[in-house]
Amino acid sequence: MGRVYNFSAGPAVLPESVLREAAEEMLDYRGCGMSVMEMSHRSSAFKAIIEEAEADLRDLMGIPDNYEVLFLQGGGSTQFAMVPLNLMRGGFAEYVVSGSWSKKAYQEAKRFGDARILGDSSDGNFSYVPNVAELRVNPNADYVYICENETIYGTKYHALPETGDVPLVSDVSSCFLSEPIDVAKYGLIYGGAQKNVGPAGVTIAIVRDDLIPTDDLHSVPTMLQYKTHVDGGSMYNTPPCYAIYVCGKVFKWIKAQGGLEGMRDINVAKAQLLYNALDESNVFHGTARKEDRSLMNVPFVTGNAELDAKFIAEADAAGLKNVKGHRSVGGMRASIYNAMPIEGVQALVDFMRDFELRNPASSRSI
Ligand SMILES: *Cc1c(COP(=O)(O)O)cnc(C)c1O
Repeated sequence: MGRVYNFSAGPAVLPESVLREAAEEMLDYRGCGMSVMEMSHRSSAFKAIIEEAEADLRDLMGIPDNYEVLFLQGGGSTQFAMVPLNLMRGGFAEYVVSGSWSKKAYQEAKRFGDARILGDSSDGNFSYVPNVAELRVNPNADYVYICENETIYGTKYHALPETGDVPLVSDVSSCFLSEPIDVAKYGLIYGGAQKNVGPAGVTIAIVRDDLIPTDDLHSVPTMLQYKTHVDGGSMYNTPPCYAIYVCGKVFKWIKAQGGLEGMRDINVAKAQLLYNALDESNVFHGTARKEDRSLMNVPFVTGNAELDAKFIAEADAAGLKNVKGHRSVGGMRASIYNAMPIEGVQALVDFMRDFELRNPASSRSI
């Protein structure tokens, strides 16, 4: 069986060339006589892997020297706790709740301190991003928190809130490395790798160093302190070695696509292809507000649950996998991350047109 087009929201498609390279190196990594999976994380071979991965990431994103790059475990969800545990220092933090992920982060932060809602789009079933120009950031807040791309609802911030001197914390799990980013505008950026940059198991955090508490936080578990991982060079304990190794290959692949500018151009072309098809269709409709549409996650519906199910089943049989939407939105969702080739999006669009011809809107009662 050949490769399918995998529209999964995560873990998600990886570049085929990266998988091939990893396969070639599986049994004998560059003359070491062992796989990266079998290697001590203290070995010189692994040290070179993690150092090169960090250097390539710094280069790709233009990460300033006063930011630490950390390779962590526990997924994006552990950052929901680590952020308040490290950055909320007896004060309060402001959260913009624009979807399930920022809502979870807000709820987790409330366990540890005074988390407040700065903006909220639950009234529109999270189909839009709250207007950032209308957010009134309290200058005394410890940080402002956003989820930049809401994976389930398919919305993306196209402008950042003005937070003044208050550090901006952003969950970029589902838009990591999808387009250029000005790291200096943020206090902390993090993302789980399994959406857009690698396999599950590693979460990358980029933290401005003045935000990292210099003293030991006695009430916070050692593993949940950023300081621990800064001091240990992401190797306080055994890091997710193989996941970091694959991420390193993905960073090189993105460089070969023209870096983040090149990646953005490819992603815009893919998203336009799919959004144009949705806008022209009489059967399919996008669910996110147009101005806030994500380049990465594209939810859409027919408005008829039976027809949605039929589409999902037929798409699956045609090798277009995992287009079922999240249960909170229903319908379909195509995640078209960096590694999804434009041919995959074209195949989906062609299939949608064909499906529409076979199931015209006029043949069904409304
Ligand atoms: C998937 C996802 C998470 C959760 O990541 P885990 O690694 O599963 O904990 C958090 N935020 C966003 C935006 C996500 O898409």
